[in-house]
Amino acid sequence: SDRREPKPIKALDVTVVNRIAAGEIIQRPANALKELIENSIDAGSTSIDVVVKEGGVKLLQITDNGCGIRKEDMEILCERFTTSKLQKFDDLSSIATYGFRGEALASISHIAHVTITTKTAESPCAWRATYSDGKLVPAKPGQSADPKPVAGKTGTQITAEDLFYNVPTRRRAFRNANDEYMRLLDVVQRYAVHSAGISMSCKRHGDTAYGCSTVQRATTKDNIRQIYGASVAGELLSVEVKDEGLAFKVEGLVTNANYHVKKTTMLLFINHRLVESTSLKRGLEQIYATFLPKGGHPFIYLSLEIEPSRVDVNVHPTKREVNFLYEEEIVECICQAVDAKLREADSSRRFEVQT
Ligand code: ADP
Ligand code: MG
Repeated sequence: SDRREPKPIKALDVTVVNRIAAGEIIQRPANALKELIENSIDAGSTSIDVVVKEGGVKLLQITDNGCGIRKEDMEILCERFTTSKLQKFDDLSSIATYGFRGEALASISHIAHVTITTKTAESPCAWRATYSDGKLVPAKPGQSADPKPVAGKTGTQITAEDLFYNVPTRRRAFRNANDEYMRLLDVVQRYAVHSAGISMSCKRHGDTAYGCSTVQRATTKDNIRQIYGASVAGELLSVEVKDEGLAFKVEGLVTNANYHVKKTTMLLFINHRLVESTSLKRGLEQIYATFLPKGGHPFIYLSLEIEPSRVDVNVHPTKREVNFLYEEEIVECICQAVDAKLREADSSRRFEVQT
């Protein structure tokens, strides 16, 4: 055939479009888990339990004791851009909850088989529904797609099975189940440290031992000890900075000059979202370089709260890197505070040695 003959342009099928979009938001099981944990926290849960099969590709299950979902919302729950957290564009700048555009559940339902069992405090029973491509589908062929009444406690259980079943190239990328499990565990561990007051656990399906498990009454420091070990927890300094002009405050726990490892562990939350900030990490590593032996790195946990209107939350959900106004000034301010803490601890240590 003549190669210069143009082919007709056709609109892609909507399911294909949604699947492509979903694959961009959910690049790997850990992205899905982060969204699900954030939803559970938003729902006011005090207990969040994660169970995983084959690195999350076979099964990702999260059970919480939050507010649950109303039965009448179950039909549109997994459609794109359905949310209880945002009504108009301006809300984006004042939003305090994690989720902001109702894409997570929709995305997951386009690349996995999703089953949701949920109960609100008012409902006499729990309701269970199965979703595919954003829509309610029968759990078994021939059954009705409507939510089914089942026994259950207040809260929500979300099960995502066979992740990327319809994106074979992506699925093949996750051959190493252990690798993916470690990534999932890392997400749970980071949120567990940040979520004192919420018990969190993560384990492989069928295992009796937990990969991580925290209790509800534990403090942040307890959680760090539980998860990252006594060697970290025993050398922590607390950092607290507030600046009205820059409209931010930061609280956290960072290791002192006695602690150093090969790689920096940095747990950073901005407005309670797990994020990354290269500029802050670099700045802090520079500060630590003057206190630690060559090649030594710290453990850093920081919870940064910035006036919501100054954070660009409307970045693509997969971008862990966030942007905020006055970034340079805020980074400088935090670095100075950490520097002062390290100096203070260092001089009191020297003093103790002398006397
Ligand atoms: P978003 O979090 O951006 O609103 P999601 O797709 O993550 O979008 O969730 C859609 C809606 O489903 C949420 O707004 C919330 O009302 C409800 N929801 C999701 N997960 C839970 C949960 N674990 N408990 C209670 N409600 C939930
Ligand atoms: Mg969400």
